[in-house]
Amino acid sequence: MNKTYIIGNWKSNKTSSDVRGWFESISQMKSEFGDLDNKAIILCPPFHHLALSSALIQEYELPFELGAQDVSPFEMGAYTGEIAAAQLKEYVSYVIVGHSERRKNFSETDEMVAAKVKMALKEELKPIVCVQGKDTPIPEGAKIIAYEPVFAIGTGKADNPEDAEEVLKFFREKGIETTIYGGSVNPDNVLSFVEKDSIDGVLPGTDSLDPKLFAEIIHNI
Ligand code: PEP
Repeated sequence: MNKTYIIGNWKSNKTSSDVRGWFESISQMKSEFGDLDNKAIILCPPFHHLALSSALIQEYELPFELGAQDVSPFEMGAYTGEIAAAQLKEYVSYVIVGHSERRKNFSETDEMVAAKVKMALKEELKPIVCVQGKDTPIPEGAKIIAYEPVFAIGTGKADNPEDAEEVLKFFREKGIETTIYGGSVNPDNVLSFVEKDSIDGVLPGTDSLDPKLFAEIIHNI
């Protein structure tokens, strides 16, 4: 049986003391995560919290892996403000690429997304490519995609599971191995998504910020 992915995207949220509090709280709910054999839980904090998050995962012995929210399209070098894949791989196994917030607010193009995927793959990171619909191009080598319809992100209005299933089935048939849904996922609707044949997991943003809600999402799968 394939694993069900739960990918928490904290976006640009939390101070260091918030991060400590989040881990302390969720560590007290560990026993409620349920059967972990079939779950891959990946947390994507902001870059500067990766080292702290890694230390806290070890300290509390949590079954979490780390992902980054973005990666530089360049190698290490003179690219002020960027974090290269070779640097990220000290902390993470996954990286989100092409989130619609980056496309909208930072003018990220399909070409930049493809360059980021290439750098991630070169350093053996697993890119999670966000697609906004069937016409989003999938960069060569990408094996994990997250369908995140823009209307559902941060609005509390999730897509309906049948529509999400239809889009993700389309990508599965194109050879994508792992297909994930994101957009206002919460503890109450999570099962309606992951029970679909073509939905391998979820990518909650808002509800990953609250340790109780994130633990409930894990539990309810
Ligand atoms: C996201 O962060 O990609 C996301 C889907 O956020 P939310 O769960 O808040 O809609």
